[in-house]
Amino acid sequence: MTAKHAALAEKFIADEPRINWHDETLWFVREKRDKAAHGLPEWEQLREWGSQIKNHTLSNLSNYLKEFEEKAKANGIFVHWAQDGAEHNKIIHQIIQKHKIQKIVKSKSMLTEECHLNEYLQQHNIEVVDTDLGERIVQFRKEPPSHIVLPAIHLKKEDVSETFHQHLGTEKGNNDPQYLTEAARQHLRNKFVESDLAITGVNFAVAETGGFVVCTNEGNADMGAHTAAVHIACMGFEKIIPRAEHLGVFLRLLARSATGQPITTYSSHFQKPRQGQEIHIVIVDNGRSKQLGREDFRNSLKCIRCAACFNTCPVYRRSGGHSYHTAVAGPIGSILNPNLDMKANADLPFASTLCGSCSNVCPVKINIHEQLWKWRQVIIAEGYADASKKIAMTAMAFLFSKPKVYRLAGKMGRTIMQVFPFLTNNKWNVWYKQREMPEPPKESFRDWYLKNGKINKNE
Ligand code: SF4
Repeated sequence: MTAKHAALAEKFIADEPRINWHDETLWFVREKRDKAAHGLPEWEQLREWGSQIKNHTLSNLSNYLKEFEEKAKANGIFVHWAQDGAEHNKIIHQIIQKHKIQKIVKSKSMLTEECHLNEYLQQHNIEVVDTDLGERIVQFRKEPPSHIVLPAIHLKKEDVSETFHQHLGTEKGNNDPQYLTEAARQHLRNKFVESDLAITGVNFAVAETGGFVVCTNEGNADMGAHTAAVHIACMGFEKIIPRAEHLGVFLRLLARSATGQPITTYSSHFQKPRQGQEIHIVIVDNGRSKQLGREDFRNSLKCIRCAACFNTCPVYRRSGGHSYHTAVAGPIGSILNPNLDMKANADLPFASTLCGSCSNVCPVKINIHEQLWKWRQVIIAEGYADASKKIAMTAMAFLFSKPKVYRLAGKMGRTIMQVFPFLTNNKWNVWYKQREMPEPPKESFRDWYLKNGKINKNE
């Protein structure tokens, strides 16, 4: 089980120029984030406020959710509660059936990815058009998004050109981004005009007002919600914040952490339906209550989905989002997904160097690398770790607790590397697959230290 991430990453890293390009592109986004954060003298204060507001909200969640429901209903919004992904999908299906709707547009919502809404609706012969440009590209290619903010970041413009040629009839081989974007724009404009129902995500739901905010850089959530007669907004229950004034903290943190922008291009506030329109909001649990009850992992519910932890992670940057085999990839996905299915996602907390860079950039101060380390312990204790890992760890524990055996093993290792290098430099050595093996030293550090210690004594 634990080899799943490694096996999927192997496919990604087979294309070496792509890994370097993917790595550099995401690091560029990370650097933009750094510049934007360092440009604000109050940045650390904002992080602290963001963290404290979220902590407070999680401790008073039921009160704020009830307050939100009450205010939203008073504003004329229909509020639905879904225990899991299946219920979320069923509620949306019922609304679609009630209005006999054929054409649906959807802006980016990681929750609908988590609940597999598109697949569910397809099974009921209902077509949904994803309107975020990156999401539309991966939807054409029948791929899941590989990043929560930049869904098609694993693709190059040549890939997009070929995809648009196949699906939109653009000129073969024309890789001009302007040309390709214009083709997508014309295609999506028609979809907006024809749609009867728009599905959006929710970035922040405000308990005090019963309104909610959706952030996009393309304005596609607004286009959908303003043209369709029915708007369904889907939110995980952790998206609640107590007061409208708290938006000032989170909107500043979100855009800077995600892309290095001072503000997301469109931060749209939805408060009540316009005349003749219906707004529904579906509030989803889907394992969140369980995570809230896990003391060590409760903090992960503070996440505002900025993806800064993805962009900085050396493993994510060099293994690609699809290697995480879940809707939310990267370091935060590796904490959230074992909660949903520990057995299926037992590999993810091990897909990390535990370097702590994720925790350093997180705008709401989630202790990501510590939680990854905790999950490893839980997964091993629950018996979901790979058998080979267990055997290797038992052998290492034996080796490290027996100094004589350790010294002998070191000597044998050095000799083998010097005299029979083919025994270590081969395809079965996973370390060797991507790296040069180091030159074996002539002696161990211990031997060197003993010798030099004597010299020093003589001096
Ligand atoms: S864990 Fe922190 S850095 Fe990662 S996506 Fe969530 S808020 Fe952003």
